[in-house]
Formats: sequence, C-alpha cells, structure tokens
Amino acid sequence: MQRLSNAKLAELLARQAAQEEGIRQRAYKRAARSAFLWPEEAADLLAKGRALVELKSVGPFIARQLHTWLEKPPLRVSAPLIRRDFLTIAEARSILAARPDWGERLRGDLQMHTLWSDGSAGVAEMAAAAQARGYEYIAITDHSKGLKIAGGIDEAALAKQGDEIAAVNQSIRAGNGQLHVLRSIEMNLNPRGEGDMDVDALRGLDLVLGSFHSSLRTTEDQTERYIKAIRNPQVHILGHPRGRIYNFRIGLAADWPRVFAEAAKLDKALEIDSYPDRQDLNLSLLKIARREGTHISLGTDAHHPWQLEFIELGLAAARKAGIPANRIVNFLPLDQLLGWVRRHQ
Ligand SMILES: [Zn+2]
Repeated sequence: MQRLSNAKLAELLARQAAQEEGIRQRAYKRAARSAFLWPEEAADLLAKGRALVELKSVGPFIARQLHTWLEKPPLRVSAPLIRRDFLTIAEARSILAARPDWGERLRGDLQMHTLWSDGSAGVAEMAAAAQARGYEYIAITDHSKGLKIAGGIDEAALAKQGDEIAAVNQSIRAGNGQLHVLRSIEMNLNPRGEGDMDVDALRGLDLVLGSFHSSLRTTEDQTERYIKAIRNPQVHILGHPRGRIYNFRIGLAADWPRVFAEAAKLDKALEIDSYPDRQDLNLSLLKIARREGTHISLGTDAHHPWQLEFIELGLAAARKAGIPANRIVNFLPLDQLLGWVRRHQ
C-alpha cells in the first residue's frame, strides 16, 4: 500500500485549501505549511496509535481529513512546479539520520536576521541559540539599505551593529564560549548584479552575502544577471539564488550549468537558503552544482532564534544531491572559512 509522506499530505492540504473559502481555507493553508515542519511522519504517528492533533495546525477537523487520506491514499499526488521539490523536516531528519557525520561536520549558519532589520531577536539572542546548537560561528546578515520594506540598514547602522557584535563576542569569550559571531550583511543586488552599500563599509565585514529581491517574476533568461552578481568582487555568497517561494513564486530562469561553472571558476559559493518556504537552491539545481564543482553555503534565513533548526532542510538537500562535504563552506573551521573569504580580496 502506498504510504503518504508529509510532503504528499502537504500537497493534498494545499489543493484542498484552493477549493475552500474563509476560515476553512485558512485552516487548510496553515496545515499545508505546517506539514513541512512536523517532526515525524503523520503515517508513523498513526501507526504508533498516537493522535494526529499532536501535530502543529491540526485540529479535529483537519485530523479527520488526514485520516481519510492516509487510510485510502489518492492515486496520484504530484505537486505543480510552484510547490515542487521542497523537503519536509521529517524527510530531512531521515536523510540525516543515515549520515550522522553530516550534522557533526556542520560548524555554523551563514544567513540570519536580527532586530537591526526584519528579525525578531537581538544579536545576543541569536548567538545564544547558536551556542545551544554547538556552533563554532554564525553570520549576522541583516538586510542592506536598498531593501526598505525589510528595514534595510545603512552604513552608519552597520557600523553600530559591528560594535554590538564585538560586545557579544567579548561576552561569549568571557564565558568561555566557543561561538564566534561574524559580521556580515545580506546586500541587496540590483538586476545588474550591483550592491547598494559603500565598498568601504563592506571592508569591515567578515563576509558578504548578496541577494536579488527585485524583478523576480520575469520569465526571460537571467543568466547575465547571475554572472554579473558572481563577478561582483564584494560578494562571496549568492543568497537564495533562484528567488522562489513556496506556492507564491517559481523564481528565475537561467542557464544554470553556466552560472554554477562561473561560481566554481571564481571560487564563490551559492547558497541553500533553508527557510522552509524557500529551500533555494533546491535539489534539481544542487545536482547541477555538484556536476560543476560549485561551493555551497548553508543559511537558515532565520528571523527568530528557534528557526535555526531550518538548517536541517538545507543540510539534507545538499546530502541528497550528493554535494561532496569538502564543497560545503559551513564545514570549514573558522580560520579556513575566513581564509576562503580573504582569497577574494
Ligand atoms: Zn533575502
């Protein structure tokens, strides 16, 4: 008998949401998105005699619907492109359980936001959450000034943030902690691959992530935009490269082998933004990255301390795509990570 995974249940919930209205539609939508974060497969829960209402966003009504699907699975459940190729936490955990060394090799998270832009916690709180995960480093990557909608910061705020990060690092060291908080930024790139910050302000940072946040719905080939961003000497990592969002936007099209080959040639990294709605790079692009020898960076894009757990989605995607461990920059010890950055200066 076909066993429905949480990914398939998420798809069924999303389809059902499209047929409903009002409060029921919202309940289905919420459950569809929560299904990606359920810690266990719903089918396993049922097999153990536990109740589906244990799962986030599942009330008695949704639970009954899930029961019906699990008992008599629909014949074909394949997601349209806009919802395809997203891992669930349950699936990610099962991939990583088979390779525990991958979790052990992970030394840090290279994309997260704080109160300085659109995050909901301060640098110290993000650092505490990272210490609880046993990380060696994290990069604070608040939005840059061009992205006003996300509270992007200018050069003066970036400098002040640097003081705060220095103070947090000092207090970690005073407590014999191992974590190092890196100064970084998610610099907004225009479609010509240019950043929006003074080069001098960027020189004080440990690392620069560059991301596109505009003209993301064009269907024309965007290869040139990517090549220019990768060649931008200030950028070390290209964040959420495709710009896709679950059930909202498919993201950009490009000659991906050429994009990944250019990044490999210039020794830049492309990111797996592990935020559940993004998962960008996704599996199909990661397989091209593997063939082209491109370095991969993992970031959660966390906007809240608990969201650091999203890293499992990115780690599992890299593993599933067969990315060699030596191409994942987050597996590098801190000094080697900084050495990799310095080679670009
Ligand atoms: Zn972004």
